[in-house]
Amino acid sequence: GAGTITSWNCAAERLDDYRSDETMGRHIDFLFPSIATGKSAMTRRFEHALRDGSQDFEGWRIRKDGKRYWGNTAIGVLYAKDGQTPIGFSVITRDLTEQRRSEDRLRLLAMTDPLTGALNRRSFFENAKRERGRLTTAKDSLCVLLLDADFFKAVNDLHGHDAGDATLQRIVNECRAEIRSSDLLGRFGGEEFAILLPASTLENGRVIAERIRERILDSGQQPGAFPCTVSIGVAASASHDETIEEIINRADEALYEAKAAGRNCVIAARGDNS
Ligand code: GH3
Ligand code: MG
Ligand code: MG
Repeated sequence: GAGTITSWNCAAERLDDYRSDETMGRHIDFLFPSIATGKSAMTRRFEHALRDGSQDFEGWRIRKDGKRYWGNTAIGVLYAKDGQTPIGFSVITRDLTEQRRSEDRLRLLAMTDPLTGALNRRSFFENAKRERGRLTTAKDSLCVLLLDADFFKAVNDLHGHDAGDATLQRIVNECRAEIRSSDLLGRFGGEEFAILLPASTLENGRVIAERIRERILDSGQQPGAFPCTVSIGVAASASHDETIEEIINRADEALYEAKAAGRNCVIAARGDNS
């Protein structure tokens, strides 16, 4: 079944101190601290990997001598030749103990939302202000997208809070798939997110927003996912004395219009120079 070890490479030997013959055929759970609940934590991870195509998480791991270390584990789904039938999983763990101790890591934790990994509100604002400060000529433009999950309360009510959490993670993953690493992605509140696209016009932003909206709609139809759409308001910097707060406010007004227009849609704010 899912979780039975069928292959064990030398990197894993070094990391966990077990030889291949000591692990083959065993369930992978013994490498993770035991939890008292019925379904193993790893079984749930495998289910999530099947649903999302991959699964990445951090936590404590146990070496052969019983000592714990902090690791990042990436689960990938292995498919049959038809590219569709899952036949197993690859599990890759990295020892993050040193990184976890480092200040960088602490700073990152302070900047991000633990559920989704998106920037938290304060950090998004700090970075957005800096991007706003970079606009110098009249031609420079940046674009802000505000997303709010539609009828999100119903996802919680119908499927439970964990399903709601997983849906927020899915929304963030779909956003990430559509933006560049130089773009900013923040969690503004419960089920509201902000994206800042540097060097982008209103039309650039509208196109990205439309792609994100569609991705979130489509991924919600995948097996195991909980259907949920988003409404998006888009605004671009209109003039050089407009503050980042003013740009975000205009995106918020556009978002409000998108909600009023029936949700699952994108509205671009008027009054821009692009
Ligand atoms: P609308 O389309 O008008 O935006 O409707 P909505 O249901 O999305 O909006 P509403 O503001 O009524 O509900 C938001 C819900 O989001 C209520 C709250 O419990 C839920 N929520 C906020 N943060 C989290 C979270 O971190 N996890 C989960 N599971 N739910 C959350
Ligand atoms: Mg909402
Ligand atoms: Mg909301």
